[in-house]
Amino acid sequence: MSIQNYLARYVSGLKKLNGGEMVVFEKLEKRLILSGTLEAVTPLHIGSGKTDIEIGEVDMPILRAPDGEPYVPGSSLKGKTRAEAERIAKARGHFICTPPNVQNMCGTLKRSPEEFCIVCKIFGTAGAISVSSKVRFRDAYPIKPVESLLERTGTAIDRSTGTVSRGALYTVEAIPAGTSFNLEVVAENLTAEELKLFKAALKSVEDSAVGGSSSRGFGKVKINFTKLIERTPRFYLGEEEQRIVEGENIKKWWSE
Ligand SMILES: [Zn+2]
Repeated sequence: MSIQNYLARYVSGLKKLNGGEMVVFEKLEKRLILSGTLEAVTPLHIGSGKTDIEIGEVDMPILRAPDGEPYVPGSSLKGKTRAEAERIAKARGHFICTPPNVQNMCGTLKRSPEEFCIVCKIFGTAGAISVSSKVRFRDAYPIKPVESLLERTGTAIDRSTGTVSRGALYTVEAIPAGTSFNLEVVAENLTAEELKLFKAALKSVEDSAVGGSSSRGFGKVKINFTKLIERTPRFYLGEEEQRIVEGENIKKWWSE
């Protein structure tokens, strides 16, 4: 079967971009809407993208929404979950491509979506074949307004000499431990194997760290899903009810 025929069978829509890139639109089979909370067990520092501390830089502010409210961007949660999924899948002996360079990702390396590594199948890939993520994380906002932020002072290390740089004190801003955020994750068309890896990756995120300053213990989070809604195209067409999983059943679902 030609690649074109294969893709035509695999997807419900294809769009050829100017550069010859192929964008794959998969038909909707099943959508899972997971909601609950994300709690900061230790202080949380999600900065504006800078991870290296430059000498002379004195302040590492956290990211804020336009209204000044601290939040956890969905992209941070997704990136961390993807990284944990890669580590777990590798431990299982799966081939996993190496983002973020598109040249090293399945969209460039593979000829058809079926050949993609399981992580690209879940989280998407770019390249000659571009496939969007099957999972989306909404930005997570605090349930209650954050009264005050933490500030911790540290000392910058000169990377070339490994010594403390003179006068290189810096201040890290962080969201205090105990802050709870509304969490919503939407997952579409995951196979049983993909869902298993996705759940494992989320659990691994809890034992890892979200955001920066993890070396000082920042970034430990607790994920608590309280509701799962399952919807199919037939639900949207008014032909069937959505399925809701909550209470003890969602706990059981999460622990499976
Ligand atoms: Zn891949």
